[in-house]
Amino acid sequence: MTRPLLYLPRAFPTSEGRVNGYELLGPDDTGRDTEVRAIALSGPSKVDTAVMDRFPKLEIVAKFGVGYDSIDVAAAQARGVAVTNTPDVLTEEVADLAVGLLIATSRQLPQADSYLRAGHWTTKPYPLTHSLRGRRIGILGLGRIGLAIAERLTAMKLEVAYATRTPRDVPYAYHPDALSLAQACDALVVIVPGGAATEGLVSAKVLDALGPDGILVNVARGSVVDETALIAALASGRLGAAGLDVFEHEPQMPQALIELPNTVLLPHVGSATEVTRRMMGDRVLDNLDAWFRGDRVPDQVA
Ligand code: NDP
Repeated sequence: MTRPLLYLPRAFPTSEGRVNGYELLGPDDTGRDTEVRAIALSGPSKVDTAVMDRFPKLEIVAKFGVGYDSIDVAAAQARGVAVTNTPDVLTEEVADLAVGLLIATSRQLPQADSYLRAGHWTTKPYPLTHSLRGRRIGILGLGRIGLAIAERLTAMKLEVAYATRTPRDVPYAYHPDALSLAQACDALVVIVPGGAATEGLVSAKVLDALGPDGILVNVARGSVVDETALIAALASGRLGAAGLDVFEHEPQMPQALIELPNTVLLPHVGSATEVTRRMMGDRVLDNLDAWFRGDRVPDQVA
């Protein structure tokens, strides 16, 4: 039996042998586009109409990651192309990172580390930082990862509130939008999907509502936060600090953000551990294998 041709623009980890059922086409291979039946997509690559036009026999786009805003889902649906993602297997890992980033930002862990390495400790102790104690933490998006973050914050004895479009049956205070949540909280953790529906949800107004002692943590997508407004708010002191794992034009970074001392900046590493990335890779293959066997596809989102 011929193996389906899988376009793999960028490799990702899987368990040994998981891709053996496929013939692989790399980004530099040419001449076989019309035979491609599947795309396995990771990183910042996009699948839009131009990409789908290139592969006329395309049946399925399998995303390595839970967020699939880099795929034009409506265009895929219009052509009968299936779309899958990799939920659940990364939930706890990303929640760990989000809470770590919140603590690192409020307690200035990277700045304190740099202070010690630069030899300043011998001259004077590191300045006092902001406490999370007694703070109310707002979570924008209480899905799989948002809920895992809430559970961790509750265990840390912090009060949690949240905003989603639909209220959930959870023991946390509900707010119908980002502004009302920010007004009620001292720190905001953003973990909604990217895409047009959430673009700029964290606006200048939302940042101002958090205030000079407020903290923004974004582990969702750069598009959700108005980055220009964020830089202005941090530079003027209208917002206290920000911990960011995602950026509007990543991996390109605005120099202004890099130069701000009240930021902790990570290179989109929310799920980036060996074990979790391998589970995500296996989940991509679970979806592709099910599709080509004709079985129910576990994570089909369109
Ligand atoms: P889920 O689909 O489980 O949760 C999404 C949540 O966002 C839901 O509670 C949903 O509630 C809420 N939501 C969606 N749209 C809006 C809106 N317009 N306003 C307010 N709330 C909204 O997804 P996951 O928790 O699994 O993942 C969330 C996102 O995290 C991913 O889509 C991805 O972009 C990002 N992510 C980032 C990673 C990183 O490395 N930094 C790693 C993994 C994920 P409702 O529908 O009721 O509004």
